[in-house]
Amino acid sequence: MAKIEKVLIANRGEIALRILRACKEMGIKTVAVYSTADRDLKHVKLADEAVCIGPAPAKESYLNIPSLIAAAEVTGANAIHPGYGFLSESADFAERVEKSGFTFIGPRPETIRLMGDKVSAIEAMESAGVPCVPGSGVLTDDDNENRKIAKKLGYPVIIKSAGGGGGRGMRVVRKEEDLIDAIALTKREADSFFNNPNVFMEKFLENPRHIEFQLLSDGQGHAVCLGERDCSMQRKNQKVIEEAPAPGITEKQRKDIGDRCVKACIETGYRGAGTFEFLYENGKFFFIEVNTRVQVEHPITEQVTGIDIVKEQIKIAGGNFLTFKQSDVKIKGHAIECRINAEDPATFIPSPGKITRLHTPGGPGIRWDSHIYESYSVPPYYDSMIGKLIACNDNRALAIARMKQALNELIVDGIKTNIPLLTELMEDETFNKGGFNIHYLEHRLEQKK
Ligand code: ADP
Repeated sequence: MAKIEKVLIANRGEIALRILRACKEMGIKTVAVYSTADRDLKHVKLADEAVCIGPAPAKESYLNIPSLIAAAEVTGANAIHPGYGFLSESADFAERVEKSGFTFIGPRPETIRLMGDKVSAIEAMESAGVPCVPGSGVLTDDDNENRKIAKKLGYPVIIKSAGGGGGRGMRVVRKEEDLIDAIALTKREADSFFNNPNVFMEKFLENPRHIEFQLLSDGQGHAVCLGERDCSMQRKNQKVIEEAPAPGITEKQRKDIGDRCVKACIETGYRGAGTFEFLYENGKFFFIEVNTRVQVEHPITEQVTGIDIVKEQIKIAGGNFLTFKQSDVKIKGHAIECRINAEDPATFIPSPGKITRLHTPGGPGIRWDSHIYESYSVPPYYDSMIGKLIACNDNRALAIARMKQALNELIVDGIKTNIPLLTELMEDETFNKGGFNIHYLEHRLEQKK
């Protein structure tokens, strides 16, 4: 494996800047790529080289594989970091990158493919002893057999697409008479959305929390778990606030699930950073999927462990062994992340436009991961997240107090943001108690209508 000397960052916004900073610290050269709508991004100005890869629509730029490969070729980059979103979980992209002679900073294409199919991912997890939601394999067209499976699991059940993603292609079934139609409908959706008609069935958990475990694995027999994050504060399957560690999770639970995820990484030859997502209900964990990339919420894990996940991704991709052991990983204090979005705090309608004034908070335990600056125009073409505010402190209550003050100091004028909603949530009694489920925010918003 070649030493990583020049990284092409196949992404935009805050994560592109985050990757650039890691590369600079490691003495690695950087190539930024940008769409015509993104000429003014901060990392484009800071990179050693920058290449325009196409017009504003992501399909023609950030999702345009030939353009990205060509940009890597003309600049002489020898590795590509996909960030999150866009092509980060495309096995085809990873394969094209490697076949073209570049290092893909992420798992092997075959691992991305294995984990991208929820049924094969669940099988791999079950064989490593990771607890999964009770469920079926790929469903056949045998109606009687499917009714039997659902009856055995007990209603409600959920029909999910094996190739699904982004919360699409799944359907909850509460009674037997709806089952067969729901399976047929989900199959059709699965085929048209994901080009894969396979669907499976799981017991539907009514009030789970979303708790995910961060793993690092070198693909050479060593893996460590960096603990968990609670991402239950969600709206329409989008995370709004995340925290680490998850309130109420014991050291014993952390170790038990962490060890099983480590085993799964070793058994699948997993290379890179990965997140094992679980639903957590009545004291039990149920695996749902693996995200084979760095996640938006990675900073909270970095803050409580002191481990730089992006640098570790780059080191692993360069063929290095992990340099620390599980016993070196210590969770210290508490970290909370608020996603700052350019959107109306009441209607959630995106609010692109020019930032006329910007003041960012600071001080001990505050981290601001963002690409925005005063006079920057938020383009309308991409995700509305404009930054991540992270607060950490000795314990959860102190981290919340710190976040409140930081939100209070954060001023983003010219566009609407969700800062008022986040500020309200910091005062919310249920949030302050911790341990709420994934429906809490939507219920709360519904009541306030
Ligand atoms: P995707 O890849 O589309 O995000 P996931 O399998 O991660 O699909 O599921 C997305 C969300 O759907 C979960 O975070 C959870 O809210 C809900 N969900 C999925 N499976 C179940 C289940 N068995 N019981 C209850 N909710 C579920």
